Amino acid sequence: MERFVERTFFMIKPDGVKRGLTGDCIARIERVGLKVVAMKMVQPTRAQADRHYPREKEDKRWFIEVAAKAKKGYREKGVEWKFDDMEYSRLIKSFLVDYLTTGPVVVMVIEGPNVIKMVRKISGDTEPRQAPPGTIRGDYTVDSYDMANALDRALKNVVHASSSKADAEKEIRVWFKEEEILKLERVDEGLLFGK
Ligand code: GDP
Ligand code: MG
Repeated sequence: MERFVERTFFMIKPDGVKRGLTGDCIARIERVGLKVVAMKMVQPTRAQADRHYPREKEDKRWFIEVAAKAKKGYREKGVEWKFDDMEYSRLIKSFLVDYLTTGPVVVMVIEGPNVIKMVRKISGDTEPRQAPPGTIRGDYTVDSYDMANALDRALKNVVHASSSKADAEKEIRVWFKEEEILKLERVDEGLLFGK
């Protein structure tokens, strides 16, 4: 069982916290059989928000993907794309730092089998307009790339969930000390994962 366990980083962003959605987001994680092993409420500083999202020098791929995903969203809505891709993603990163510092966030480390994939699935697509009902982003927002960009702000999509093992480890280090991550056994683990 131990060898199947992964961990991921999960955040209720300031819009989610202010709207009182924290409890529901945690409930969705717990009810599927995943485990919260660290959690706190924090007012992010600009430096923390900057470190949380990729830096161009370290992860150019993220900058390429952010523009590619948004371009696809524009195309689907029939809205013209008239940005330089890298300039675009740099602007989005600055919107993100503004967004994360607008109020407290709730940060968590979640543990369990397939946890990275599962928490992304529970969160839904980056653009809430495309996120299906039953996901956090699909159930609670209707935001879209073109609307967020026209208003010079990040997409307000309620939560953040790490997208890979490397990102998870990096993000966990931004928000938690290793000793803040606790050992916890759920009473239903045998039933869920045992023979
Ligand atoms: P995620 O992993 O699904 O959260 O998405 P990304 O890592 O691609 O982007 C990080 C965050 O930036 C998203 O959750 C959105 O809040 C915001 N964001 C991403 N792309 C865009 C965009 O094209 N426009 C705007 N305004 N915000 C964006
Ligand atoms: Mg991401």
